[in-house]
Amino acid sequence: MKNKSKIKNQRSKFNQSFIINQLAEDREKYFNAVAPPIIQTSNFAYQTVDEFTNAIQHEKDEHIYTRGNNPTVNMLCQKMAALEGAEDCLMVGSGAAAITNSVMSQVSAGDHIISVRKPYTWAEHLMTKILPRFGVETTFIDGTKLENFENACTEKTKLIYLESPNSWTFELQDLAKIAEFAISKEITTVIDNSYCTALCQRPIDLGIDLVIYSATKYYNGHSDVVAGAICGSKEKITQIFHNEFMTFGNILAPQNAWLMLRSLRTLPIRLKQSSESTLKILEYLKDHPKVEQIWYPFDESNPQFCLAEQQMKMPMGMFTIALKNRNVATIKRFCESLHYFLIAVSWGGHESLIMPKCAFVDENDSQVSMIRFYIGLEEADVLLEDLDRSLKIL
Ligand SMILES: *Cc1c(COP(=O)(O)O)cnc(C)c1O
Repeated sequence: MKNKSKIKNQRSKFNQSFIINQLAEDREKYFNAVAPPIIQTSNFAYQTVDEFTNAIQHEKDEHIYTRGNNPTVNMLCQKMAALEGAEDCLMVGSGAAAITNSVMSQVSAGDHIISVRKPYTWAEHLMTKILPRFGVETTFIDGTKLENFENACTEKTKLIYLESPNSWTFELQDLAKIAEFAISKEITTVIDNSYCTALCQRPIDLGIDLVIYSATKYYNGHSDVVAGAICGSKEKITQIFHNEFMTFGNILAPQNAWLMLRSLRTLPIRLKQSSESTLKILEYLKDHPKVEQIWYPFDESNPQFCLAEQQMKMPMGMFTIALKNRNVATIKRFCESLHYFLIAVSWGGHESLIMPKCAFVDENDSQVSMIRFYIGLEEADVLLEDLDRSLKIL
């Protein structure tokens, strides 16, 4: 059972600044250094056999071996859990590892998953290609309507997989309503919350069980670390720790955890900058004669705008546009003429990015003129100038 009052009590002690700058920092232990040390070790030694035995019996809470626990990584786990309002967190080596560890921990042969349509590519691959080999089937639904979850639900449904919003077209799911339904059916819910981070959306407060991240994106934010996180109740996280986490071994290395601790210090101001610039840029693109359509949760013409306002605390830095011009050669020239928007996968870093759909689909595809934008930390005016100059090519 969920113990909401306990989570709320815990949260009231913490504010964002405390979590980011103070929580889990034990500076007296390391010469009062402001920045924490990187505990770069694979194993930990004990004075006595009895102490060693005791540690092995409590592997989740002790330092024995870095595939299980490492002090630098644990510091990050504590901060991530607190930001999420979760009881516990596991850091893993990638967002994909967060997906596989969390999903596989909840299903067995014969079970059924309901997933939102068009989840992250490798989540889809897990559910369409890998899990069927182990007798787990998935139904993909349009997650914008609650009744689609109700209709897809069978006796065998054990997991609901969410991503709100998803990439490219940014459909949302009503998390509180879906959680209420799932709780009534004793179905576990997991959400990929990478787009929002805990600063924008807190699914656990809405009743979702497991919140997973590609921490490669906003959390690390400097395009130099691949990382993932799984947040949830002590019970669920402990179960994952002793099974999938220890067995699959997709750990986050201490060096990368340290880089992420450094990144967390600036998370709020990075998100603020990305968010504010995005709104300015969308204001410019909204009525631009070369732009056919915009997909963005906080766009007033988005049919789910109200839900976005209700569920998300701030507009975030990624959106998609479709250009009116559908000529691939011209679209390529537009993309290549942008100086500040790099052509690359991923997002959430310091640098603005574009991902043109024409790199993936053929020229007759209806989506060929779609371009996904991520707005980084450059000055908004610089990005606007860059866009304005390049849009003239079309
Ligand atoms: C990038 C991404 C992932 C995968 O994360 P990695 O850190 O690249 O493994 C999962 N979900 C979303 C929404 C992503 O953008």
